[in-house]
Amino acid sequence: MSSQTRFNLSQDDLPKFWYNVNADNPVPPTPVLHPGTKEPVTPDFLSVLFPMEIIMQEISTERYIQIPEEVREVYKLWRPTPLIRAVRLEKALGTPAHIYYKYEGASPVGSHKPNTAVAQAFYNKAAGTKALTTETGAGQWGTSLAMACNFFGIDLEVYMVKVSYGQKPYRRIFMETYGAQVFASPTDRTNYGRSLLSENPGNQGSLGIAISEAVEVAATSGGTKKYSLGSVLNHVLMHQTVIGEEALKQMDMAGEYPDVVIGCVGGGSNFGGIAFPFLRENLKNGKRTRLLAVEPTATPSLTKGVYTFDYGDTAQMAPVVKMHTLGHTFMPPGIHAGGLRYHGMAPLISALFDAGHIDAVAVKQRATFEAAIQFTKTEGIIPAPESAHAIRAAIDEALDAKEKGEKRTILFNLSGHGHFDMVSYEKYLHDDLEDFEYPVESVQEAMQHLPEVNLPV
Ligand SMILES: *Cc1c(COP(=O)(O)O)cnc(C)c1O
Repeated sequence: MSSQTRFNLSQDDLPKFWYNVNADNPVPPTPVLHPGTKEPVTPDFLSVLFPMEIIMQEISTERYIQIPEEVREVYKLWRPTPLIRAVRLEKALGTPAHIYYKYEGASPVGSHKPNTAVAQAFYNKAAGTKALTTETGAGQWGTSLAMACNFFGIDLEVYMVKVSYGQKPYRRIFMETYGAQVFASPTDRTNYGRSLLSENPGNQGSLGIAISEAVEVAATSGGTKKYSLGSVLNHVLMHQTVIGEEALKQMDMAGEYPDVVIGCVGGGSNFGGIAFPFLRENLKNGKRTRLLAVEPTATPSLTKGVYTFDYGDTAQMAPVVKMHTLGHTFMPPGIHAGGLRYHGMAPLISALFDAGHIDAVAVKQRATFEAAIQFTKTEGIIPAPESAHAIRAAIDEALDAKEKGEKRTILFNLSGHGHFDMVSYEKYLHDDLEDFEYPVESVQEAMQHLPEVNLPV
């Protein structure tokens, strides 16, 4: 074990391949269904939204997929990201556990999301795409894709959940600085948005609604615009595996191997990104690392949701997939981890959780901010409220190890910094933040609106 606390790889160590967990996945994939017919989708249907290279990655079972040189060149702006041992946090907790974190907030936009944004922009550029549409909740994804589109010369329209558009003006300006156009969703630019606004002009939006708008614009553009999604899909999780591949090497530099790997989950991409390379070691090399996904009690898709076929969006335009879901009609409570408010969970994470390869826990909002502040005061970095869920679980692991007098090696992904989330911190510090547990009854009610699918669920 090293006395060093910060483990930096050189640019030569930047991964050359993404890891595709579907090559080793013990759980057979479930079909992706057309939202209208509920029949398995054809590449033709998907090609309205995505370039062919992305579609091929989505269904690939090849173990390693080469990262294009153009993508690695952009990654080099901030990758490899550091792995840091949180010695000051360990000391404050008085724990015998060792806590490491991978810092994805080191990217220019402050989160892990550019790892896939850059790849998606590259493949779109290569396929001749001139413009992309997307949604964004808290603004992290929109900013990431805005940066990537700017690098590759692609126009971008971002449909930003209205409540966040109001709460986070600087995220919007960040996107506009890269040259993106940003609209508060629901907008009057789409049929779906107009229908919602005529029912309720005060509609504050949701990620599901913003996805519907971005998909509608791309699908009705006559081929001039394609669509890009920042989480949930197989190819997105695969692009994020650079996190775990680097972390494997860095843990080796530290002379330790994690007993537990922790990540927060919204759609599942940063967690999949850090966890899948460790899952490969579990499946193929006899390692026994526990993989722990952490979600808010306010949007508990893994711990309270149902594993079934559901629409990916609210307007029922996106494909139907088998996932842990709170129902596509889910209207999120206004919690402060905007990036964790999606109604579903990546099909890959859902299936692996269902089969027992992944664990999950839900944590409350106030305890999460408490952990965030303990982390800020010891390690100096203000975490994104999303990432703070992983910190909460890591601290709980460290305290559990202390209670049991166990040495334990904990690795978590610090998916982003919280520099644009000061309003949330202000609310917490001024005692204005409530805990919210999503009621089981609401999940049961939402299950009345699932698509009817002719497949065993
Ligand atoms: C978007 C976001 C998340 C949640 O998305 P995943 O796809 O589950 O990773 C987590 N942390 C940060 C900082 C984010 O921006």
